[in-house]
Amino acid sequence: MSIDNISIHDFDFNLICEYFSHMERQGPGSPEATLRALSFIEPLTESARIADIGCGTGGQTMTLAQHCPGQITGIDLFTTFIDLFNRNAATLNLQHRVKGVQGDMAALPFAEEELDLIWSEGAIYHIGFEKGVNEWRRFLKKGGYLAVTEASWFTVERPAEIHDFWMDAYPEIDTISRNVAKMEQAGYLPVATFILREECWTDHFYSPQPAVEEIFLRQHAGNPTAEMLVREQRRERVLYDKYKDYYGYVFYIGKKI
Ligand code: SAH
Repeated sequence: MSIDNISIHDFDFNLICEYFSHMERQGPGSPEATLRALSFIEPLTESARIADIGCGTGGQTMTLAQHCPGQITGIDLFTTFIDLFNRNAATLNLQHRVKGVQGDMAALPFAEEELDLIWSEGAIYHIGFEKGVNEWRRFLKKGGYLAVTEASWFTVERPAEIHDFWMDAYPEIDTISRNVAKMEQAGYLPVATFILREECWTDHFYSPQPAVEEIFLRQHAGNPTAEMLVREQRRERVLYDKYKDYYGYVFYIGKKI
């Protein structure tokens, strides 16, 4: 949910949830990218325990569930998203092995070494990449995998406008090699990294937004917070289009050693 990147505190959480609950995804990504990341992970078994952290309404979780065995727990701070997540799981008849639970990624409800796989798309920035990979590691079994996406720089230098935007939104944004080093430092074998294709932003995240905005603005006509939220989303889309050579989302896959 990239709105958080900008200044979540300026907005009403309920409005943000409402805006993003109209969408299948709350951040850039695609089923193709999810499956590509999964292809780097050693086959799981029926007894595998998987967590999807910052799962949102579960777009990527359902893709994951349809392509690997095991029990999946989706964790998200917002109950609105968790309710939609559980509804989506039931619609796909996955409710027996896919469950959404309200929770905080900074205080995960798992036991040490309980998990075989930790998944997290477009969400680890809420805790910070370095802190997230370090703190979540203890919940993984030895040999377990971490697969997360994180907004990353593609170049060591970039135009001031986009640099300033990210310094304001998420100053921890870093280059791919430095993020890989952070994973290594935290005790993971870096298994793979790949850049999410442009369609993950355009087709799967930005294209559905104008229609969502129209409904949203109609429902909240005259509400300055709603108008600001929409303005920020539009600005983000314009910046992406202008500066997509300089940053994007990257999948980082590591194995606990
Ligand atoms: N993984 C989903 C959602 C990404 S948006 C997707 O790719 O579509 C980021 C998600 O992180 C949101 O759903 C937001 O509610 C959740 N989130 C934010 N802070 C959180 C926290 N402290 N703990 C758990 N989830 C959090």
